[in-house]
Amino acid sequence: MQDSELQHLRRCIELAQQALEAGDEPFGSVLVGATGTILAEARNEVGGGDNTRHPEFELARWAAEHMSAEERAAATVFTSGEHCPMCSAAHGWVGLGRIVYICSARQLLAWHQDMGLAPPPVNMLSIQDIAPNVAVEGPVDVLVGEVEALHRRRHGA
Ligand SMILES: [Zn+2]
Repeated sequence: MQDSELQHLRRCIELAQQALEAGDEPFGSVLVGATGTILAEARNEVGGGDNTRHPEFELARWAAEHMSAEERAAATVFTSGEHCPMCSAAHGWVGLGRIVYICSARQLLAWHQDMGLAPPPVNMLSIQDIAPNVAVEGPVDVLVGEVEALHRRRHGA
């Protein structure tokens, strides 16, 4: 993992923290172009009642609107938590490139179970199960603890 990539992941954590402080779920993501420039950022915004307002979905739509197919394929999405199936599908449908996530869906589920939360209404299949052609990297062990702390704060555990 390069320093610049860790920086993008740290930005994802900042966005997740902002989401938490705004009453949303602590998830944040950044879309980085082939040259390493941050093109767009998003954070979870489900607090208003729309549970599809995930940052990775938002970035997929942004990419479809603002980037060519070639630019999308060469881009990377950095994110605090592994894409859920909805976001993996959106990522795959718009032809975005690599994904780097800090914590896996499996880790998140384990934390939720540990906190006694009900299972999610969607099966948390891995990114590769949904979008097999996407290059995926994660978990990023050095940052997992920070993300876990945000999720435990969200649920008061
Ligand atoms: Zn999602």
